[in-house]
Amino acid sequence: MSTTKEIINKYNIRMTKSLGQNFLTDENIVRRIVDTAEVNKDDLVVEIGPGIGSMTRELCARAGKVVAVEIDKHLMPALTDNLKDFDNIDIINGDILKVDIRKDILEKYVATGAFKPGCFKVVANLPYYITTPIIMKLLEDEYGINLMVFMVQKEVADRMVAAPGGKDYGSLSVAVQYYSMAEKVFDVPPHCFIPQPDVYSSVVRLRVHEDPPVKVNDRAAFFKTVKAAFGQRRKTLLNALYNSGYFAKDKEQIREILKSKGLDENQRGETLTIEQFADLSNALEKNRHTN
Ligand code: SAM
Repeated sequence: MSTTKEIINKYNIRMTKSLGQNFLTDENIVRRIVDTAEVNKDDLVVEIGPGIGSMTRELCARAGKVVAVEIDKHLMPALTDNLKDFDNIDIINGDILKVDIRKDILEKYVATGAFKPGCFKVVANLPYYITTPIIMKLLEDEYGINLMVFMVQKEVADRMVAAPGGKDYGSLSVAVQYYSMAEKVFDVPPHCFIPQPDVYSSVVRLRVHEDPPVKVNDRAAFFKTVKAAFGQRRKTLLNALYNSGYFAKDKEQIREILKSKGLDENQRGETLTIEQFADLSNALEKNRHTN
């Protein structure tokens, strides 16, 4: 088995910075990521951005099936060669944000009964330039993925798992925690990659909720409330909600709703728990319709 560095040299690969190409060279980290995803033979695993397959080999050795989605066609020869010992891999040369996950993955593998519900995982050392859009697509589109393990920039991981009140808590924290139970598992230093990134990385595990932890009557209103609260972080909750223009036209009505929910109009949005956001958005939405 060739190492990442040997494959890079053999195929004379030039890493493309704009595609977030930082390849893992540390076998121990690769094993720890796959351990974190608790991969076993019952699993269908989608890997986003396999690169030259450093982690894909470990996934193929442990999973039932691996579907790897890689955007860069120049990496295909090295990737296929590196995976030639495995017959449980399918490679899609495409952009994960454009791939039709329902048609090209769900209908092909899950709907045919080849994999049981509960055994659908995503594992990725993500390209850092599109981390949030990828994570939000996978969570919001509700493909029935049960577990996701991502390597992301450490500061993004900190935001994903942040609790109310701190500087890292924001709309990403609320969205990720609405859809999943998120944990930061371990940090990875720059020297574990080639080329070395400028930042530390972290591995996060998201156990996707079957049902969200809070009751939200209207998901759009919930996320509007969250966006309004964090969009103007220095403003009070009352002003941030009022300025968003989405809720009651009358500031007094918003004041009354905040009061009825036991919230201080002068507090900052970043102090609200997910439960409080849900409760508040349900009340604001009801008011929007009765206005
Ligand atoms: N998994 C490999 C590893 O751990 O060594 C490579 C990880 S590298 C951080 C990110 C990979 O994602 C690159 O191979 C890059 O070409 C690929 N990529 C970038 N944008 C992508 C996209 N929109 N869809 C699919 N793959 C993408």
